[in-house]
Amino acid sequence: MNVISANDSVAFNVAMGGADSLDSISGKTIPRLLLVDDEPVLLRSLCALLESREYQLVTASCGAEAMEYLSKRQFDLALLDLRLPDFSGHEIMDFIKAKSIDVKVIVLSGDSGIEAAIGALKRGAYGYMRKPYAREELLATIDNALQQRRLEQENRSIAWQLECSEKLYRYLVDSSPDIIYTLNQAGQFTFVNDCVEQLLGFAPAELIGKHFSVLVHDEDLERARYVFHERRVGDRASRNVELRLKSLHDNDQERTFDNTLMTISFNSMGMYSLGNEANKREFFGTYGVARDITDRKRAEELISYQAYHDILTELPNRVLFKDRLGLAVIQAKRNEAELAVMFVDLDRFKLVNDTLGHVIGDALLQQAASRLKECLRRGDTLARIGGDEFTVVLPELRDRKDAAIIADKFYASFCTPFILDGNEVFISASIGIAVYPDDGQSIDELLRHADIAMYHVKAQGKNGYSFYDDSMLDVSYQKIALEQSLRRALEQDELEMYYQPQVDSLSGAVVGAEALMRWNHPERGLLTAGEFLPFAEENGLMTPISDWMLGALCRDLLQCNQCNSSMEPFRLSLNISPHYLDRHDFFDKIHGMFAHYAIDPVQIEVEITENVCIRNLQHAIDQLNKLCQLGVSIAIDDFGTGYSSLSYLHRFPVHTIKIDQSFVREIKSENGHFPVILAMISIARGLGLKIVAEGVETVIQARYLEQSGCTTMQGYFYHRPLPLGKFMELLNQKQAISA
Ligand code: C2E
Ligand code: CA
Ligand code: CA
Repeated sequence: MNVISANDSVAFNVAMGGADSLDSISGKTIPRLLLVDDEPVLLRSLCALLESREYQLVTASCGAEAMEYLSKRQFDLALLDLRLPDFSGHEIMDFIKAKSIDVKVIVLSGDSGIEAAIGALKRGAYGYMRKPYAREELLATIDNALQQRRLEQENRSIAWQLECSEKLYRYLVDSSPDIIYTLNQAGQFTFVNDCVEQLLGFAPAELIGKHFSVLVHDEDLERARYVFHERRVGDRASRNVELRLKSLHDNDQERTFDNTLMTISFNSMGMYSLGNEANKREFFGTYGVARDITDRKRAEELISYQAYHDILTELPNRVLFKDRLGLAVIQAKRNEAELAVMFVDLDRFKLVNDTLGHVIGDALLQQAASRLKECLRRGDTLARIGGDEFTVVLPELRDRKDAAIIADKFYASFCTPFILDGNEVFISASIGIAVYPDDGQSIDELLRHADIAMYHVKAQGKNGYSFYDDSMLDVSYQKIALEQSLRRALEQDELEMYYQPQVDSLSGAVVGAEALMRWNHPERGLLTAGEFLPFAEENGLMTPISDWMLGALCRDLLQCNQCNSSMEPFRLSLNISPHYLDRHDFFDKIHGMFAHYAIDPVQIEVEITENVCIRNLQHAIDQLNKLCQLGVSIAIDDFGTGYSSLSYLHRFPVHTIKIDQSFVREIKSENGHFPVILAMISIARGLGLKIVAEGVETVIQARYLEQSGCTTMQGYFYHRPLPLGKFMELLNQKQAISA
């Protein structure tokens, strides 16, 4: 026993610290009792009575002292005398109530009046005993009071634990990234966690009592019924069923949910099963977890989209194209119908890409793709299967002509220039067509033959279409060998410069010549520039070829000068590939070559074709200006066929314009009216430029041009391009005539 009187309360405080009612040594809970009586004898006898019990006893001899103890420390039980010198026991109990002090009270009263007892019990006293009390009865009452207090405390702690764990579960459920819900038998929400608001924008409270279908995408309602009305449990319950749910969020995209469901029967839930008969299971609703897998779905969709599409143009890629073509072939076979496969290749795309850069090249591909697409019907497939290569399937062809109509549409759609970064760029396409079943039975054969037909168009000068024909096979094999053999041609010196005289139609004098490249092909014989240079341009061979050309030209010019003893030095025109002009060392190379061979630049004219784009216009202008300062003249080739004729005239230091063959070819009668030619001639006149007509083939053309004011001519009517020897002979003859 441990008796503490008011006198040693300080020592008590120190000993007990904050852990009231706890035995600091054993750690077990020892009940603490406050004994209040003004009669020291009675206090002592009480202490003596309780001595044998394991209690902590604290005594107080007046009301004030008792109240001070009660307000400072935790007691389990107070034995309270009603009549004290300062306060009554009732007043102390009022104090206990007012201060919400948690202590049981047993009143020990000398007062025999019923009022005192009622007053005590009204104030919540656990027991009321008259003095003198029976010892056993008092001890039993104390035991009961302490027992009840312990039970109350345990209950409180359990309740608190429950509250905590409920809060914990609630927290876990609400902070779950998944929607967790329960439905009743009618399919109405009975619970849904906060996540639904974050994901779908519905407040949980507004969903309670609503049918689940308010959340489900209309097309998924049928499937949703199985998922939401799941009655099965365990492994057989719905798992990973995907449903689209509606969202109130402004992006308004349906979100995809992976709905994992279980049915919970009444007995299976631990908390509610108490008291129920184990075998009597009653379905009362559905419990489910819905996980947002929208992002995963999108990633999956993107991956599968990328596997079958070209990202730049968003067209089907080769894989998807072959798949569609395969289906179309099966269909055509079944219906005994025809179908067409087209191979579309952009002409000179590589040139645009190399000169204007990849970004512009990409933009061109996108624009070209959308133009092609606009020409097609719904069931047709357009695909991009490589750099500038597109393929088309036209299923269910009524007639071959239908494919030709589409090809014509493609052609027409490329007639307007593409606007790329403010530049107008013209680009054409070469199209090969193979028709099932005549030109091939399998996917690969059809594609290969369309490809061969396309190459045939390229070989014929591009920009057009052609149906496959067996005779093309030879040509296409030759194409493949072309690049290799062209490299070899440079090494083995198979290239040669030819010279096409430019004649003054009035005097018949040779005033100049255009240097044109020829290839003495070991097997195919003499090839013209048009037959292999476009190919060289697209395959990056233009730089070594141009280097070779410059050297050959200088050497030839020296020879010509030796045999040309006339006073009038003639001028040689040379064609400059835009690739070459674009090089940073363009001027230095030409300048170096002239210096090396001691060529007078005045004898040289460079022809710039305006038909292709120049990547760095300012660079080109600078280079040409420098050439100009040396004495070289500049001619605009193929004038009028490109997009920038007039702007070139202003920006380049131009001396000559060459009327393109395509305009000259139109001249079919001497008395006709050919306004484009007249306009060019008057432009040249107005700007003080020389003008040369190209491709003059007939006397009619020559006369018309002459009458219109263009007297310098070049064309088969006068001379074909000649090898150096022949050209020198001609020069000598002319001198002989004029001498
Ligand atoms: P271009 O500069 O327009 O050259 C004229 C083309 O027309 C030449 O074709 C020439 O043989 C052809 N031609 C000349 N007169 C007539 C005629 O009366 N009727 C017809 N139908 N054609 C005629 P070629 O030699 O095949 O050259 C094609 C193009 O290749 C040239 O067009 C030029 O742009 C380019 N080229 C030719 N030689 C060279 C060269 O050495 N270097 C570079 N970079 N390009 C060249
Ligand atoms: Ca030319
Ligand atoms: Ca030309």
